[in-house]
Amino acid sequence: MGRLPRMILKQGKEKALLRGHPWVFSGAVDRVEGEISPGDLGEVYSKEGAFLGTGHLNLHSQIVCRLLTRKKEGSETGLLRERISKAVLLREKWFGGTTDAYRMVNGEGDLLPGLIIDRYAEVFVLQVLTAGMERLKNDLIGFLAEDFPPVSIYERSDASTRKEEGLPESSGLLFGEEIAAPVDIQEHHCRFRVDVVKGQKTGFYLDQRENRLLLGGHCEGKSILDCFSYTGAFSVYAGSARARELTLIDSSEESLAMARVHLHLNGLEHLQSQLIRGDVFEAMRELKPGYDIVILDPPPFARKKGSVPKASRGYKDLNLQALRLLEKEGLLLTFSCSHHIGLDLFQKIVFAAAVDAGKKVQCLGRMGQPADHPFDLSHPEGEYLKGLLCRVL
Ligand code: SAH
Repeated sequence: MGRLPRMILKQGKEKALLRGHPWVFSGAVDRVEGEISPGDLGEVYSKEGAFLGTGHLNLHSQIVCRLLTRKKEGSETGLLRERISKAVLLREKWFGGTTDAYRMVNGEGDLLPGLIIDRYAEVFVLQVLTAGMERLKNDLIGFLAEDFPPVSIYERSDASTRKEEGLPESSGLLFGEEIAAPVDIQEHHCRFRVDVVKGQKTGFYLDQRENRLLLGGHCEGKSILDCFSYTGAFSVYAGSARARELTLIDSSEESLAMARVHLHLNGLEHLQSQLIRGDVFEAMRELKPGYDIVILDPPPFARKKGSVPKASRGYKDLNLQALRLLEKEGLLLTFSCSHHIGLDLFQKIVFAAAVDAGKKVQCLGRMGQPADHPFDLSHPEGEYLKGLLCRVL
């Protein structure tokens, strides 16, 4: 192979990389030597000429380099294969026997920038988010097909972030059998059916698995309000832990239809349940107080830093409504999956909601993302899910 293109940083801009951060932002670059197409492999150097690492370059993106390795030698595809197998090993150790659905590869958190692989039993769903990973896609399919092999590999690279890399959205079958029906999975003691073709994201919100289990411990005889229910996963855990009644709210008709299927699948069809299709902000205002547990699991309100103030108002309103609906000693499981809203800020927002609701609220615990969604401590951008388990006094 010829000499790789080189990215030379401005004076002092190597500091974050030296502390382990994997990204170079466009403002940090002094100059580039050699021709670069988006996603090409290239080397990064400090102004003084110190070698910093090798990674995927893309001058179309704000993130102009994502480092793969701090070493000069080695094969890129060898590294890819090895890191995937390490990531899978972690999941097998961690979840062995408890679930057949988990995030196999979590991008930067598994040192594989731009790559997400979700496993739903024998179906792997890929999200390829960068030009570098896009270039490696065929190698990747080859490794997965050889090392596992799954029944199908399906692509759901329909995330809007692909635009920032200059890539079009892309989805469809990459390997194996056509996917004719939703995929059956087992998560702890619950069963679900995942529509990997048309469902949200890659089909299921795997990141709430452990928080759903936590909820289950407190549901017996209780009345549950599951806001932003999607396909009802929290409700299924609540129902199978003998909740008295379930109320689910979601804006998506298809999601609620699948929630109905999930209640049946888990033998909960006789449980008193109400599925409300609507906007949670409005629907909650129509409800009367009397719930023992409220779950708030909204989509990210702050995708950009600039939207934090507006997002904060949204979270406050939701939490205020939830606290209004809760009985004394009722529990609130409240989440934010906006990276830009940190746990401290989120806690302040919930506190402000409690003040406005005129309720005294205890915090029984904090929740986060599970072990199959690891983030690298030097890359805090990878931490997004945070939650509070609160109790109304
Ligand atoms: N709790 C779910 C995941 C929730 S994802 C689980 O454990 O599987 C967020 C959900 O909120 C999606 O299903 C989406 O359809 C829904 N949603 C987004 N905005 C909404 C709104 N304003 N009102 C009601 N539902 C909304």
